[in-house]
Amino acid sequence: MDVQKSIKQDVLLKKFTTFRIGGPADYFISVHSTDELKEALQYAQEHNLKTFVLGGGSNIVFSDEGFRGLVIKIEIKGIVCHDTENSDVMLEVGGGEVWDELVSFSVSRNLYGIENLSSIPGTVGATPVQNIGAYGVEVKDCIEWVEAIEIQTRNIKRFSRKECLFSYRDSFFKTACGRKYIIVKVGFRLKKEGVLNLSYVDVAHYFTQKKSPTLKRVREAIITIRGKKFPNLNEVGTAGSFFKNPILTQKEYKLLKEKFSDIPSYYNDATRVKVPLGFILEKLGWKGRTNNLVGTYKNQSLVVVSYKKATCKQLVSFISDIEKDVKNKTGIVIEREVTLVV
Ligand SMILES: Cc1cc2nc3c(=O)[nH]c(=O)nc-3n(C[C@H](O)[C@H](O)[C@H](O)COP(=O)(O)OP(=O)(O)OC[C@H]3O[C@@H](n4cnc5c(N)ncnc54)[C@H](O)[C@@H]3O)c2cc1C
Repeated sequence: MDVQKSIKQDVLLKKFTTFRIGGPADYFISVHSTDELKEALQYAQEHNLKTFVLGGGSNIVFSDEGFRGLVIKIEIKGIVCHDTENSDVMLEVGGGEVWDELVSFSVSRNLYGIENLSSIPGTVGATPVQNIGAYGVEVKDCIEWVEAIEIQTRNIKRFSRKECLFSYRDSFFKTACGRKYIIVKVGFRLKKEGVLNLSYVDVAHYFTQKKSPTLKRVREAIITIRGKKFPNLNEVGTAGSFFKNPILTQKEYKLLKEKFSDIPSYYNDATRVKVPLGFILEKLGWKGRTNNLVGTYKNQSLVVVSYKKATCKQLVSFISDIEKDVKNKTGIVIEREVTLVV
């Protein structure tokens, strides 16, 4: 690849994010292989350019001023399947593959493990970053290893699942040290004969009314359920849930229960309790509220949405208001799930 020729200048970043917010990147390049990525990184180093790695842009908000440096969009494709001795199947998948296409591919081959993560936007390479999760499943449960390039040295390193330090919407790749790496390939271990996870109320409820669950039907169920929960990306901008669900100590949970006696909970362990922030926001009157060109979605207050011509400044002001209100009225400091590049 001739990097010089492939790099574009002054590229509007809003076109590359599902929030549709963000000014121009000074420089922008799409890379289709590990070698191209290495060349782009070398170019950035030689020209003293800051870099930012972009997947499908479904968990990012760029500032109105854009990005002063080189944005590298990962388009590294490829899916390779191997049978293993214990009848599991290993999939080695390029970081630029579209996540939901991988889920569809797996389900069509009767491979179990990631079907509950159907319909989540974005790329495969971004899935370990925040350990995507939905309907009782986290991607960490199927990840065997993650291969990444160290930005500074351009050496490739393979991280075991343990080294990825996965936790709720978090991993090593979100830490200061982890941000020095770009994920190029992910190894998934899927099952030929798996067990369906119908633990989530919505999913269980779907199958009380419909036919008995199969792998393909679970994928259909998730797509149907999500279709009602999330806004249409062609109509509004969003990055899905903007905040993480808070994990409280038992003492904090007791205090919250005094305020909202009907608050549901998901137990993490004996000492900590995860609570649905959407419920709290709804109680505090945030559901469907709009300010300027941003607001919360009418069906789910955890989902922040933007309308045409919304700015990052308006979004930041709106989410800061939510954060302050929750802190003042419940004492809970909420954490953002979406990456703000400002
Ligand atoms: C409608 C909607 C619904 C959603 N539902 C869910 C859900 O149910 N569960 C869930 O967990 N998430 C959900 N999300 C969030 C989002 O889809 C996921 O976080 C997804 O994995 C982001 O992928 P991406 O390729 O778009 O990443 P981007 O938005 O491009 O990037 C996200 C972050 O990852 C980094 N990154 C991206 N690619 C790489 C790479 N190859 N190497 C290193 N770092 C990288 C970026 O620098 C950035 O910090 C939803 C989003 C939307 C819009």
